This record gives sequence, C-alpha cells and structure tokens, in this order.
Amino acid sequence: MNGDVILRIDDIGRKNYFRIIPSMLEELVKREMPYVLGVIACELEKDNNYITSLDRREEIEFALHGYYHEKDTQGNPEFKLLSKDEARVLIKKGKSIMQEKLDVTPTTFIPPWNSASAATKNALVEEGFKVFSGIDKYETSPLISLGCNASTATFGPHALVPLEKIKDDLQISLDQRGYCVIMIHPQDYLVDDIGDQHKPEVDPEKYKQFTSLLDYLGNTNSNITTFKEMATTF
Ligand SMILES: [Zn+2]
Repeated sequence: MNGDVILRIDDIGRKNYFRIIPSMLEELVKREMPYVLGVIACELEKDNNYITSLDRREEIEFALHGYYHEKDTQGNPEFKLLSKDEARVLIKKGKSIMQEKLDVTPTTFIPPWNSASAATKNALVEEGFKVFSGIDKYETSPLISLGCNASTATFGPHALVPLEKIKDDLQISLDQRGYCVIMIHPQDYLVDDIGDQHKPEVDPEKYKQFTSLLDYLGNTNSNITTFKEMATTF
C-alpha cells in the first residue's frame, strides 16, 4: 500500500480531552508517526491548557480548526455562511492566538464540521493559508484542497467505524488519489455520557481501534505525513 497518509486529529483543546490526548500522542511518537492537530483557537484563551504543554512539538503540525467551533441558532457551522470579512476576523484572531500561545503560524485550515463558505477560502488566502481540509464545493482557489477520505467514527449517532471499513476507505482513497486524510476525534475513545457528552476517562475497548489502526499503518508502505509537508510537493 503506497501513498501519503495524514492523521488529522480534530477538536484539540476541549477540556475533557486532557487524558486522552497525551496518551494518543504518546502512541504516535512511539511509532515515529507525524500527525496534525486541529486546534479550536478559543481554547487557547484559557490558561493552563494542555495544548501549550505538549512535548515533541517538532513532529506536530498545528492546524486552525475554527475559532469558537460553534453553530449559529439555525444550526449552521461556524464558517458555513460567513462573508469574507467576517471569516477573516475569526481567522486572523485564531492565527494570532496560535502564534502567541503555541509559537506557530498555521497554514492549514480545517473548518468545523468540514463546512465553510467560498468567501472563507478567499479570506484564508489573504491570511497566508496554503491548505484547506474540509468539504470543498468551490474549485477556483489557490488553496490546496485535501478533504477527509476516511474517518474513525460517524456522527449522529456517534459510533466507531470498524477497523476493516477504515482499511477499505484508506485503500480506495490511495488508489483514487494517491493519498488519504483520516479524520480522528479524541472523543471517539472516551467513555460516553448522556447525549453527545463524554467523560474524560478513556474507554479501553474503543481505544484499541486507534492503536490497531496505527499498527496497521506501520506495517504498510504508506508515508505518514502532514498537510504542511504535502503542500511542498504540489
Ligand atoms: Zn471539530
């Protein structure tokens, strides 16, 4: 199995993930696999956030994954309906808090719920972004579009995807595109509470999906990489 694989871990910053994130990252570091963390920028406003104290920073790409990561009163994702100016305000704010707290300038944008307006893409270009990783219906943009091609869970209802299905999706994407972006959420591996809430405790049964996936990838010839790295090859 040849091709580039990106492990895109979304929703970084949410407070209930302080146990699972370090443990997931340890698994990746152990296997010397690079990865992308999609950071919810507003979480960096809080002091003592676990994101700012992560080790082995040089192997991580930090991507911007929305500012507030919220839906409006009609249920529209944060960037879905924004004008260029509205989007630019949030993107600029997100970029500057990441520069201040993480000492990185993000070049990849992952829209919350994978959804953004065409105007958002124009705002991203003006803010120096290179890669857009979401559902992309707008083809005329200098941004490199690398959406997600496989996922470790489904949402509504939230349920883990069987490992065999992930392997199939991975193979299909590598055959069709030569790369595969795997969308991962830390909450996939936590103990469920009522509704869409999760307790901070890791569910060992669910967590096996993550380590098995990494072991599987480690035994293939695929090249685990980041958006930042891939952008240099376009
Ligand atoms: Zn998200």
